[in-house]
Amino acid sequence: MFVHQRQGSLEVICGPMFSGKSEELIRRIKRAIIAKQKVQVFKPALDDRYDVSAIASHSQRKHDAIPVKDSVELARHLDPEAQVVALDEVQFMDEGLIPIIEDLADHGVRVIAGGLDQDSNGEPFGIMPILLAKAEYVTKLQAICMVCGALAGRTQRMVQTGGQVLVGAAEAYEARCRHCHETPH
Ligand code: ADP
Ligand code: ZN
Repeated sequence: MFVHQRQGSLEVICGPMFSGKSEELIRRIKRAIIAKQKVQVFKPALDDRYDVSAIASHSQRKHDAIPVKDSVELARHLDPEAQVVALDEVQFMDEGLIPIIEDLADHGVRVIAGGLDQDSNGEPFGIMPILLAKAEYVTKLQAICMVCGALAGRTQRMVQTGGQVLVGAAEAYEARCRHCHETPH
């Protein structure tokens, strides 16, 4: 029987810091480009840990990205020809992104969103729980716990200053398993 596959869906890549979310996002972007698809890549402007106009993994893999300060700016930059729209660090984006993503997926665009599912207290991070509920495909990655070597699903903050958002890499955060993860009391 012939089954007509309609295009357009949401894929979410989540997990703690160092779990390989950016690497996986970059891998999917590169494959879409090899398949000659029109790809647009965005990231929130506040994530400047390595490069302002690229997404970068901790292992220094990189791909160009358009930095946007909010969902309104992102909508302004959208190319109507884009077949794939990839977003990194999506936990930092505002709620206005949700209807934009839904509209893109409804109209045939493959949306790939990467980001932290939990903040450093182990709580759901920003719009991520909503995106996880709405996604067709979810990939939940794990890092290696820096205390015991088990698989790590959480991010330990090593510096106890600032709010939920403290942008930084290796020096400020560490991957931890559930049992080694500590929250401030
Ligand atoms: P994320 O986007 O999830 O933060 P990245 O794709 O930027 O992850 O980085 C993943 C890379 O981080 C791994 O391939 C590895 O080289 C490195 N890395 C550093 N610390 C860890 C750790 N504790 N567990 C796993 N990978 C780690
Ligand atoms: Zn552990």
